[in-house]
Amino acid sequence: MHCPFCRHPDSRVIDSRTSDDGLSIRRRRQCPECGGRFTTTETASLNVIKRSGVMEPFSREKVISGVRKACQGRPVTEADLAVLAQRVEEAVRQTGVSQLDTNEIGLAILGPLRDLDEVAYLRFASVYQAFDSLDDFESAITDLRADHADPELADR
Ligand SMILES: [Zn+2]
Repeated sequence: MHCPFCRHPDSRVIDSRTSDDGLSIRRRRQCPECGGRFTTTETASLNVIKRSGVMEPFSREKVISGVRKACQGRPVTEADLAVLAQRVEEAVRQTGVSQLDTNEIGLAILGPLRDLDEVAYLRFASVYQAFDSLDDFESAITDLRADHADPELADR
């Protein structure tokens, strides 16, 4: 990136930090030519490769529509879903990838959905992870129970 002071074609990154929401990175840069300092903000592009091979930009709406069915009849509001989609986006962006497939999106949804509603989580996981027996449900439920018993997690 050109130096805004002298137009030198190169600059050196002297500090990088992620914004509080985790969705962008601010970089302090210094021009090796004139020594001028400036800040840039980067927001990574994030694309999803669908099963068909088609690539499209990551969309929180798609995340929400993906989990809405699992949340049917549960005490989950539209605001909850919006927060969930934001958490999924943050989690995905924090891994630093620029593209991921729908399977990886599904994985990123599991954690936040589990925090939101365990029944919805079980429904979603059963489809997404292709549970094919009662044992699969049982081990998922055992995991949930184990977390309940963990005092570190009890007051979250
Ligand atoms: Zn310069």
